[in-house]
Amino acid sequence: MKIDIHLRDNTTGERYVYYDDSDWAGWDEDRNADYQIEWMFAYGNYACDCNRALYFEAAKTGKWPNNLDRDCGHERYTIERIVERGTDRVVYYDDDEASGL
Ligand SMILES: [Zn+2]
Repeated sequence: MKIDIHLRDNTTGERYVYYDDSDWAGWDEDRNADYQIEWMFAYGNYACDCNRALYFEAAKTGKWPNNLDRDCGHERYTIERIVERGTDRVVYYDDDEASGL
C-alpha cells in the first residue's frame, strides 16, 4: 500500500503532502499495513518530530533533506491524515486525546 501523508507544521500553520514511495505491506497477517502505519506514526519512529521534519521538508522542497536541524518532540508536526493512495480512505490521523502524545 502506498500512502499520502498530510502534515501540518504547528509553528507556521503550513501544510504539505508527502507522497511516500514506500510499499507498506504490514508485518504479518494480524499486523497488516493499517496496523503497521498506525503503530509507526502513533508510537514508533514517525511519532517523533525529528522524523516528521524529514517528511515535511521533503514535501515542502521536493527533495529529501540532508542537513536538517531537527528536534525531538511531539508538538511541532501534526499528521492531519494519512490516505491510502488512489482512494479516499483515511488510514491514520493524530488523535492527541486518544494517544496522549
Ligand atoms: Zn526524535
